[in-house]
Amino acid sequence: MRVTNLYKESKPVISMEFFPPRTEKASGQFDTIIDSLAELNPDYMSVTFGAGGSDRDGSYQTVKNLMIDKNIPTVAYIAGYGIGPDEIREVLDKYKEMGVETIFVIRGDKPRGDDFTPHPGSFAYASDLIAFINKNYDFTLGCAGYPEAHIEASSLDKDIEYLKLKVDNGAQYAVAQYFYDNQYFFDYVDKCRNAGVSVPIIPGIMPVYTVKLTNILSSVCGAAITDDLKAKLDNVDAGDKDAVLDLGIGFATDQCKGLLEKGVPGLHFYTMNRSKSTAQIITKLKQEKLL
Ligand SMILES: Cc1cc2nc3c(=O)[nH]c(=O)nc-3n(C[C@H](O)[C@H](O)[C@H](O)COP(=O)(O)OP(=O)(O)OC[C@H]3O[C@@H](n4cnc5c(N)ncnc54)[C@H](O)[C@@H]3O)c2cc1C
Repeated sequence: MRVTNLYKESKPVISMEFFPPRTEKASGQFDTIIDSLAELNPDYMSVTFGAGGSDRDGSYQTVKNLMIDKNIPTVAYIAGYGIGPDEIREVLDKYKEMGVETIFVIRGDKPRGDDFTPHPGSFAYASDLIAFINKNYDFTLGCAGYPEAHIEASSLDKDIEYLKLKVDNGAQYAVAQYFYDNQYFFDYVDKCRNAGVSVPIIPGIMPVYTVKLTNILSSVCGAAITDDLKAKLDNVDAGDKDAVLDLGIGFATDQCKGLLEKGVPGLHFYTMNRSKSTAQIITKLKQEKLL
């Protein structure tokens, strides 16, 4: 499945992102999560890749589980940080052999802890890795975009220049980091278009799962917690799991409605390997005939 064909269709494309389950217990629950979300007929699912090659077998097995065992259209990710061209080829050859057609390419970040030594031949930026893959393989390639600028970027304009480089080097669509104010996304798309980036840009949706996780992720990912969301978080009992989930579902559903009204090409859900929020948001959107 080449996702760019999906984005050519007029209906919004629904995608769901997962990471490889890391423990036996999580593996046991993973199938149930996937099966319940698959009932909503997403257009594709995607599987992240641990930077530095950590858990590359876990990513491979998860892609295999989704794509081969469960017959779900699947995108495999590769993160270049720290790994050399030979290892990248090994990973990609295996995905090619499995029949994967779309690869989402990111740089990744230095794994936590000091004991990791990057391969001397590893690619400095996602754009370099995209050029390498584009030259050597026939995959459809995607890349990441950041409506509020990547956390290390000197400016949003500069970051968009590098997004353009990723596209010029072969990326055919971009998935955006999540955001809690749709206007950030709309302004970002306008700026990208003005900068000559014409590929589909897909908004990422990260429902609030817990207050703690939202705060941690936002500081790592650079997605601002808006005044509106902060007021809602301040008013919920952080220990009441269901109330927090419901808040997140309501907030994200409203966000999705606003995005769909403006005709976005798709919605990409960061599921964090949880099913309830994504399932309820999509169900609500379907009930209102927005999907
Ligand atoms: C949808 C999505 C999925 C993700 N999936 C994963 C995953 O599976 N595994 C994982 O480890 N991480 C993942 N990440 C996180 C990502 O790896 C980090 O955000 C990482 O810090 C940057 O990756 P990138 O591909 O955007 O990097 P790049 O595009 O290389 O950009 C990194 C930084 O360098 C700057 N830059 C880019 N090119 C140049 C250049 N030529 N010269 C100077 N500066 C430059 C950019 O402005 C930016 O600040 C994901 C992020 C998103 C949005």
